[in-house]
Amino acid sequence: MDVIIIGGGLAGLVSGLELARRGYQVAIVERKTYPFHKVCGEYVSNEVRPYLESLGVDLKALGATHINRFQFSSPSGRLLETTLDLGGFGLSRYVLDHSLYQLGQSAGIRFLVGKQVENVTFAADQFTVEINDGQVLTSRLVIGAYGKRTKIDKQLQRLFMQKPSPYLGVKYHIRTEFPLDTIALHNFQNGYCGLSAIEDGKYCLCYLTTRENLRPFGNIPAMERAVLFQNPHLKRIYENAEFLYDKPEVINEFSFAPKRAVEQHILMAGDSAGLITPLCGNGMALAIHSGKLVSALSSTYLNGQFTRNELEQRYQSEWSTRFARRLWVGRTVQRLFGDRWLSEAAVSVFGTFKPLLRGIIRQTHGEVIAVEK
Ligand SMILES: Cc1cc2nc3c(=O)[nH]c(=O)nc-3n(C[C@H](O)[C@H](O)[C@H](O)COP(=O)(O)OP(=O)(O)OC[C@H]3O[C@@H](n4cnc5c(N)ncnc54)[C@H](O)[C@@H]3O)c2cc1C
Repeated sequence: MDVIIIGGGLAGLVSGLELARRGYQVAIVERKTYPFHKVCGEYVSNEVRPYLESLGVDLKALGATHINRFQFSSPSGRLLETTLDLGGFGLSRYVLDHSLYQLGQSAGIRFLVGKQVENVTFAADQFTVEINDGQVLTSRLVIGAYGKRTKIDKQLQRLFMQKPSPYLGVKYHIRTEFPLDTIALHNFQNGYCGLSAIEDGKYCLCYLTTRENLRPFGNIPAMERAVLFQNPHLKRIYENAEFLYDKPEVINEFSFAPKRAVEQHILMAGDSAGLITPLCGNGMALAIHSGKLVSALSSTYLNGQFTRNELEQRYQSEWSTRFARRLWVGRTVQRLFGDRWLSEAAVSVFGTFKPLLRGIIRQTHGEVIAVEK
């Protein structure tokens, strides 16, 4: 293999597709089986819309909604509304990732689905990748696109693994009454919850909180009734919506701490290289963008233009230039959320100075990715 990609989420699928279309031998190992649900707010920044379409993702046919308005409420329910300069679209990960997977199959990617990478080693200028079914693959490059956290991070002794990760993410698909063109971000004590339309008249309801918030209540429904319902907008949504899953998708133990984009020669892309706080609504755009970047640079190594050392240095430096500040702004702004006093104050300040809010949103977003004709 030229390249083995660990993880077939957005970063893995985009980098795999780009490399396979350039004629390289690519394998993607994904521990789940497509199509599958994932904890995510499912609002995608328009930063990546033309690029995704250029890859062959037919967003219109898939039923993506157009979103260009933003609502923000404090824990007590005070509401602020503004327009989004760049805007985005709503589409479930079930549909989006599956569409990229199908494009990847047509491009000749070798998919190992329902299988997990257990270990990666690098020796004599070659990677050896061990899969949980006993298979052992070798390759010239490995792209780590395995998302927020996996046991490989522990093997690599990555720094962020030494600190506790207190966060909890919960997602539902629901049917409700809400404008199709609006994304809402409703705050509650120690967390915030997004609501926006996706395909087929459905909505994604997804929140971030801490395990500490859950502990006194013992289970998610009890916490939702005691804590989220304090915000009257959330109470109304929960009491009137039709919930389409038997139980929510849940993830925990993830970290927003800075990470390195290259670890022991593995090129990290998407959340494995750094997770932006969800309130920015552009983690997916970042994952897609980093998939494009890592594949373009990997190609220059595979075709002999760059040495491995040049590739690693260039990738780390370009990743930092393009994304590090956006992650920092996201971490900083997240401190305003969840804290009752600060988020009440934020609604007052941003309500008076809406351009300030739009300015902050702009700081966490990049330029629309240019598409080669
Ligand atoms: C609560 C919450 C809400 C969010 N809302 C939004 C939003 O509205 N908009 C937005 O743009 N972003 C949002 N994000 C961020 C967004 O979901 C991520 O940034 C995005 O999914 C990153 O894509 P990725 O490809 O890096 O990782 P993922 O999509 O997580 O893909 C990683 C894949 O790797 C696989 N995997 C993991 N370990 C292994 C292994 N050892 N072997 C094989 N496979 C493996 C996993 O099964 C997974 O499919 C949100 C995040 C959270 C936590």
